[in-house]
Amino acid sequence: MKRYSAFAVAREALRYHTGWERAWRSPEPKRRYDVIIVGAGGHGLATAYFLGKNFGITNVAVLEKGWLGGGNTGRNTTIIRSNYLQDPSAAIYEKARSLYETMSQDLNYNVMFSPRGVIMLAQTEHEVRGYKRTAHANALQGVQTEWIEPARVKELVPIINLEGPRYPVLGGLWQERGGTARHDAVAWGYARACSAMGMDIIQKCEVTGVRSENGRVVGVDTTKGAIDCDKLGMVVAGNCSHLSEMAGFRLPVESVALQALVSEPIKPCMDVVVMANTVHGYMSQSDKGEMVIGGGTDGFNNYTQRGSFHHIEETVRALNETFPMVSRLKMLRQWGGIVDVTGDRSPLISKTPVDNIFVNAGWGTGGFKAIPGSGWAMAELMATGHSPLAEEFSMMRFKEGKFIDESVAAGVAH
Ligand SMILES: Cc1cc2nc3c(=O)[nH]c(=O)nc-3n(C[C@H](O)[C@H](O)[C@H](O)COP(=O)(O)OP(=O)(O)OC[C@H]3O[C@@H](n4cnc5c(N)ncnc54)[C@H](O)[C@@H]3O)c2cc1C
Repeated sequence: MKRYSAFAVAREALRYHTGWERAWRSPEPKRRYDVIIVGAGGHGLATAYFLGKNFGITNVAVLEKGWLGGGNTGRNTTIIRSNYLQDPSAAIYEKARSLYETMSQDLNYNVMFSPRGVIMLAQTEHEVRGYKRTAHANALQGVQTEWIEPARVKELVPIINLEGPRYPVLGGLWQERGGTARHDAVAWGYARACSAMGMDIIQKCEVTGVRSENGRVVGVDTTKGAIDCDKLGMVVAGNCSHLSEMAGFRLPVESVALQALVSEPIKPCMDVVVMANTVHGYMSQSDKGEMVIGGGTDGFNNYTQRGSFHHIEETVRALNETFPMVSRLKMLRQWGGIVDVTGDRSPLISKTPVDNIFVNAGWGTGGFKAIPGSGWAMAELMATGHSPLAEEFSMMRFKEGKFIDESVAAGVAH
């Protein structure tokens, strides 16, 4: 793989950009791999990357039914933070956040990580108590967050209206090193690094069946034929229930559409990310100037990977209270992704009832921020059978009652 650098850009400029190579290869599948990962979203690609980087396992295929990064990884609002309440969550999200800090250098690919700071607004007394508690928990976990008063919120976000008609802003939980990154670039950067290690990323290759013998996986059936493997990682977010059904077990996951929208581009007006969980909307400004706006999930389970009118209305109505300037913006695009939600709003990084099948799912509305940490832990689990970061996220916790309850703590879990 040729390194990207300022020197390379200058060199290519002199020869009319004829020397660039493709960022990743697009091979036909081999008959057999040591490891198959299903799903070329951020989590699947990061798993493959760390299998190669940390464990030297490179006879790996990543199978993707559409195009890489075309699932939730390319559809999210890119918020990165690690201010979770429970210890296992803080550990994996903080690992991920810290890996984001150096991801562009590690991958030699600019993922545009922008640690501009994230505020979660407290707009009820309940939220004030909740976020103060999270700030204390974060201090014990070594995660840097702080409780800030309304005056400081206004200083950080001049366009905010502190005196909303229903819910005035009473303060906020501030994570200075939270922020955003370019979501497609995260997928593309990992894909390029995996391909350079000799792994095969095979797009337009849907897994249609999972084959096992004597309780152990032996391969998968795909739209490009049967492929054998020793180990299988299922990393398909909202489609995880379909995959697990093919393998003969069920997951404690529901799938539901989550929507987002962007406005027309405007001049820079807000240089932090703001989440307003009570009124249920959140916003940041992209480098192009668009206001990136996220709302909640649909109230019913579905696989409708698209937007709907009532969400525009609900989300924009909520934001109008907190940011009156939103009422003057034209909205450009709206879309949806199918997210995989567990009962305690925490993910699954787990062994399964079939030997050598591992599942990584349940990131729901908030898994973009977790991609590098999740890939790190999943690779460790697949390579060695054990990962300290993943230990508490076993699917067995739903049998044993050992929930990692982030549902109330997270409010809107993005
Ligand atoms: C609107 C929206 C906003 C969000 N905002 C945020 C946010 O601000 N911050 C945050 O942290 N998270 C956010 N999220 C959540 C985040 O996007 C997801 O948790 C994360 O991207 C999941 O990544 P993944 O790699 O697990 O799944 P995906 O990116 O969905 O990848 C799974 C892949 O598996 C493929 N696949 C499925 N079935 C098969 C099959 N049978 N064979 C082969 N391939 C298959 C799919 O095509 C897909 O490409 C948001 C999500 C949405 C939808």
